Amino acid sequence: MRNQGRSIGLVPTMGALHSGHTELFKKARDHSDAVVVSIFVNPTQFGPNEDFDTYPRQLEKDLETCKALDIDLVFAPERDEMYGDSELSIQIDSLNRHMCGASRPGFFEGVLLVVNKLFNIIEPDIAVFGQKDIQQFQIIQQMNREFNHGINLIMAPIVRANDGLALSSRNTYLSDKERVLAPGLFRSLQYIKKRIEEGIDTPGLLIEHQKSELEAKGFKIDYLNIFLKTTLQPMNTLEKEKSYIIAVAAYLGSTRLIDNILIEFS
Ligand code: AMP
Repeated sequence: MRNQGRSIGLVPTMGALHSGHTELFKKARDHSDAVVVSIFVNPTQFGPNEDFDTYPRQLEKDLETCKALDIDLVFAPERDEMYGDSELSIQIDSLNRHMCGASRPGFFEGVLLVVNKLFNIIEPDIAVFGQKDIQQFQIIQQMNREFNHGINLIMAPIVRANDGLALSSRNTYLSDKERVLAPGLFRSLQYIKKRIEEGIDTPGLLIEHQKSELEAKGFKIDYLNIFLKTTLQPMNTLEKEKSYIIAVAAYLGSTRLIDNILIEFS
C-alpha cells in the first residue's frame, strides 16, 4: 500500500465489532486511502481478576464485517506473535493516576505496549480511537508525541444506542434488566453537564447527589467526577476557558461500564 503511495489509516480494536467500531472505520476512510483494522484481545491490558478469558471473541464474524466495509487489511495476530519475547514495559507518570488508571492498575501500560507495537508494525499515517475511552486517547497522544511516532491521531465521537447507552463489546454481558438500567449513566452525565452550563462552577455536591441516585438505581460507582481534559486530574472548581471531561465508571452486576461527556467552554 505504501509502495503504491497510499496513505494508511489504522483502527486498533479488540474485536466483537459493533457500530462504535465501524464509525471509527469510516473516520479512517475519510482521512486515508487504505484502512487497516487490527483485532487483538490484548492480554497485557487485563488485570488478573478481569475478563480476559470471557471477553467476546468472534473473529470470523468480524472478518465478514470488515470485508463488507471494504477494509483493506485486517491484522489479527496471535498472542505469541505480539508477545513472544517480552521484557520491556512502558511507564506512565501521572496521566493514569485517576479515572480508569486508578482502578485498573497496569491497564494503560498494557494498552501503550500493544499500541506502540501496532504503530511500529503497521506504520500508519493516521490512527483513529474512540472518545468512549478518552483517557486512553490522551495517554496514546502523549506516547505519540514522546516517542516521536508522528502519527496523526483522530478521536471519534461516542456512538450510542437509541436510549443513550454507549455501545461496547461488554454490553453483551448485561442481563435484560441491567440493559434497561444502563442508560441511566449517560442521563446522569447529561444532567451534570446541563447544571454546569447553567452556571455551577463548584460541582462537588451535584456529583455526590448523582452518585447517590445511581447507587439507588443499582449501580456500584467506581468513579464519577470532573477532570481537566489536558491533565486528567480531578477538578473541584471549574474555570470558563478550560475544557473538562465528566467521566463515569460503574458496575451493573459484574459488568463494568464507562462513559464520558466533554465540556468545552471555549
Ligand atoms: P475496543 O475494541 O473496545 O478496544 O475498542 C476499540 C476502539 O473503538 C477504541 O478506540 C474505542 O474507544 C472505540 N470504541 C469502542 N466503543 C465505542 C463507541 N461506542 N463509540 C466510539 N468509539 C468506540
